[in-house]
Amino acid sequence: MTGTFFLVSTPIGNLEDISLRAIRVLKEVDLIAAEDTRTARKLLDRYGIKTPVVSYYDAAEGSKSAGIVARLESGKSAALISEAGTPGISDPGYRLVAAALAAGIPVVPIPGATAAVAALAASGLPTDRFAFEGFLPSASAARRKKLYSLLAEERTMIFYESPRRILATLREVEKIFGDRPVVVARELTKIYEEFIRGTAAEVSRKLKEKEKIKGEIVLLLAGRSTPPDWSGITPADQIARAIRELKISRMEAIKLVAGLRGRPKSEIYRANLETSQLLPE
Ligand code: SAM
Repeated sequence: MTGTFFLVSTPIGNLEDISLRAIRVLKEVDLIAAEDTRTARKLLDRYGIKTPVVSYYDAAEGSKSAGIVARLESGKSAALISEAGTPGISDPGYRLVAAALAAGIPVVPIPGATAAVAALAASGLPTDRFAFEGFLPSASAARRKKLYSLLAEERTMIFYESPRRILATLREVEKIFGDRPVVVARELTKIYEEFIRGTAAEVSRKLKEKEKIKGEIVLLLAGRSTPPDWSGITPADQIARAIRELKISRMEAIKLVAGLRGRPKSEIYRANLETSQLLPE
């Protein structure tokens, strides 16, 4: 019989944020695969967990998966923990889960902390529907393009962001989304936990008052609340602007505009052709 593979959520700062079930499972399994063995050690020592630990991180996902799956197939049980929060959420795990499932191994989640949900719950933004976007691209052009593609999103958007990039991202958010409500949730569950709420400009101003922006950050952005009025702007204008501002190809711009307007790509393509034919060569 195969063993069971557990995905165990661990704290995102405060070591008390771990469930009794998580502690029991970590004590009972034959093996713990940890993204960061040093962070894992701190947590395991705190709860007197003596289970053997192996390292399992992004770059090694491919090579390590096979070994862990083989041990599960031989009847051993294993748990995956990430550096913080829920494994697989902007952390390694997905490939190991897929490999375990493909080998017919039962995968059991042990739920717990995840920064996105903790931030959302206390953000004051609508929680009924949300879009978790993980980390935005680090290159500014790609980041801008990604944000543009979310312009028509109605759900609350959640991003993981680094303290080094937060001001640059807020600048883009201000340019693209204007004065939509934004929340920066910083250092959740830790001593200096704080929520900064306001428009992107207001939140930036408050962050700039700090000597140095430090710590881990979740950025939340309110979804669009009123349907956009497209009457004053033609698809062709919008395509031209996207090409100019985002430095993307015409086809990419057509795809982006179709997404924003919720129209088929073929319709936007035709509208673009018809308008371009009116223009001088
Ligand atoms: N697996 C984790 C989870 O379930 O939330 C996320 C891991 S991801 C590599 C790390 C990012 O999560 C950080 O850069 C930050 O954006 C966010 N994060 C993690 N812990 C946080 C905390 N205590 N406060 C605010 N954001 C946090």
